[in-house]
Amino acid sequence: MADPLSEPNAPTGSSDAPPAFAKRSLAAQALGRVDPVTRGVVAPLHVATTFLRDPDNGYSSGFSYARPDNATVREAEAVLAMLEDAAAGALLFGSGMAAATAVFTALEPGDHVVAPRVMYWGLKRWLSAEMPRRRIAVDFVDMDDLAALARAIRPGTTKLVWIETPGNPLWTVTDIAEAARLAHAAGARLAVDSTAASPIHTRPLTLGADLVMHSATKILNGHSDVVAGVLAGATPDAFWERLAAIRSSGGAILGPFEAYLLMRSLRTLPLRVAAQAAGAAELARRFQGHPCISHVLYPGLPDDPGHAVAARQMEGGFGFMLSIRVRDGESAAIATAARVRLWKRATSLGGVESLIEHRASVEGPDSPCPPDLLRLSTGIEAVQDLFADLDAALRGA
Ligand SMILES: *Cc1c(COP(=O)(O)O)cnc(C)c1O
Repeated sequence: MADPLSEPNAPTGSSDAPPAFAKRSLAAQALGRVDPVTRGVVAPLHVATTFLRDPDNGYSSGFSYARPDNATVREAEAVLAMLEDAAAGALLFGSGMAAATAVFTALEPGDHVVAPRVMYWGLKRWLSAEMPRRRIAVDFVDMDDLAALARAIRPGTTKLVWIETPGNPLWTVTDIAEAARLAHAAGARLAVDSTAASPIHTRPLTLGADLVMHSATKILNGHSDVVAGVLAGATPDAFWERLAAIRSSGGAILGPFEAYLLMRSLRTLPLRVAAQAAGAAELARRFQGHPCISHVLYPGLPDDPGHAVAARQMEGGFGFMLSIRVRDGESAAIATAARVRLWKRATSLGGVESLIEHRASVEGPDSPCPPDLLRLSTGIEAVQDLFADLDAALRGA
């Protein structure tokens, strides 16, 4: 299909294979594409919902209507596919939930799914409500226990293993390569919610996963001003085509303005992830042994149960998310969150501003989240300020 915006800059020198630039270089320049009309180094925002038909009734541009496809959305998808090493490409959706639920919607009645016991709460709730109505059985298991995963898989019937690593809000780590091996041996696909890892730390498709999903609302956009989701695929097979068809016919594509904002954010993703992960690592270290904290949950800590696997499958850091458990329990945790002045008391994660959240009150009574837990999303403020603010709040100041 003709895609006039897909032409990369002609590589200087040889006209053969383009040089293998680092992902950081490619992201910074949004793959080096230029607007063919103006030679602008930023792609234009395409807002048209419909496109002229050729006299012969064809669509030579490849575009006909904006629900299935949009040129600005494609630009951001190309950058995401590059970041994830996704041979099938990437599909942007109107939210992380729209991306995730598309995968489950593509299953058939009678199929079986294995998902984490502790995972993004909104998706677990959706699975519990919607899967039984479609006669799809879901088993929720502790995904840091691969023996439990192996026991839960029903060869031939399990069609999807869904993991999330590091997993929200305990930041438990699942061995992606091993989960892929177990899923594939039983004829199932492996999908990874990689929101908390970002494509900078982990590329699940290169570790054997079939699909990777992100809430692009989080660190991919990173400025708390876009709701978006993405799927990236390892293989352009019939299942991947079905996901594209579900997005197109169900109408879940991301809007062009959101795609444009996301694209602008992706240019700085490597820098933001590095800074935010370095901040989270330092906070985790400094809060260990704090008199008001019983546990620091962060896979970057050498004594964290997930550290060995995380060190194997994560590059350049262990993410920007950590949780602390407040020694004096739930009301002390809520009071701590009430006292912060720099941290923002709000849900969500991955933005440049640091957020603190008493997670159990968001998830409700069925939640596996400990009631004394505060979830911390590290932004780009000075780490010393973040530490001092939360330290004072913990001590009641
Ligand atoms: C936020 C989030 C989602 C859902 O994404 P939305 O963009 O809010 O729909 C899914 N998984 C994880 C890990 C998340 O943090």
